[in-house]
Amino acid sequence: MLGKNPDPALEQQVAEPNSVIAFYDERVLNHQPNSDAPFLPGRMDRKIRELLSALKVPWVYPEHAGRLKAIHQLLELEPVPGVTFEAGKEASREQLGRVHTSSYLDHVFELRGKNAWLDVDTTAVSPGSVDAAEVAAGTTVAAVEAVMQGRCQSAFALVRPPGHHAEPVRARGFCLFNNVAVAAAHARAELGCERVLIVDWDAHHANGTQDIFWADPDVMLFDIHRSSPFYPGTGNLEDVGVGLGEGTTINVPMPAGAGDRAYLSAFEDILIPAADWFQPDLILVSAGFDPHPFDLALNVSYEGFAAMTSMLQTLAQRHCDGRLVFVLEGGYHLLSLSRGVRTVLAVLAGAEAPEPGLIGIAEVRAAADFHRHAFIAEDPDKP
Ligand SMILES: [Zn+2]
Repeated sequence: MLGKNPDPALEQQVAEPNSVIAFYDERVLNHQPNSDAPFLPGRMDRKIRELLSALKVPWVYPEHAGRLKAIHQLLELEPVPGVTFEAGKEASREQLGRVHTSSYLDHVFELRGKNAWLDVDTTAVSPGSVDAAEVAAGTTVAAVEAVMQGRCQSAFALVRPPGHHAEPVRARGFCLFNNVAVAAAHARAELGCERVLIVDWDAHHANGTQDIFWADPDVMLFDIHRSSPFYPGTGNLEDVGVGLGEGTTINVPMPAGAGDRAYLSAFEDILIPAADWFQPDLILVSAGFDPHPFDLALNVSYEGFAAMTSMLQTLAQRHCDGRLVFVLEGGYHLLSLSRGVRTVLAVLAGAEAPEPGLIGIAEVRAAADFHRHAFIAEDPDKP
């Protein structure tokens, strides 16, 4: 059951089945770190210059604005019937402060308008980045509000910089603010949610989201990812949370090349029973598309993403009137990223998810029938 809603403007109504809003705000394109730009001088700059100069090929910031442009372009070329678009908004300092410390926020806000490295794992800001990061977190909040208000059954916050590596006090892995965590905390603080389930299927472990809710029994994190030592090297099976939050962190580390069957088994055998026990009143999905083979770490196909989306829809219908919010995390190959997002949106809008691994099976059966007689020995008794 939902708790009492403190804000009458957010009074819930039941959303139309399969109604979907995609949130897209062009201000997130203004985050444009460029390693050739002059950065604030200092120890971090020296360290990173050293790292980059040791590389054999020139380094380009992989998390760039072209990612979102590719998604937007594909959705314009091939619109998904039933999906409408809305712009986002900036997160307030209060919203960000529910998951990041005040000193961290002060430090990041001081970098507004500047080029700077934030972390030795090549997380950087350009002059427009802090504004973009506020809009990424605020747009994720807007997506959650739309679903909680019943304006749509599900939503997809198409945002960057991504969020799931950002810790309470540290930017990491191209992430400044932890968008999904900000939205989950907002849903609990302002929108009447008691229990929020976060499912993270990005190829990389959500070290930041895990840290933020490590001891929190009211936010469950289910994270399936490529196992350590793959970046960021966290998310071992035994890491289950502490104190009251023991058991509400669930890590499922995968070996290189794991694909649809492994992912769907993990959903079937671990996520579904865990969610049925937890009974969330909202489900958030940190959706990265880097488990697709084009990003070279894992082997989840478009049909795999579709099938996982469909299972999450069923879970959301069972527990929370279908309330399901996707938030973009990683995914660096522009084709698999944009196709992956479109595939998820189509399933959210009511398209049937094909069962993975069946493409071509009907054709093989027909071909087998066609060829069967060619290889049967002539019956010697036949007249
Ligand atoms: Zn990732």
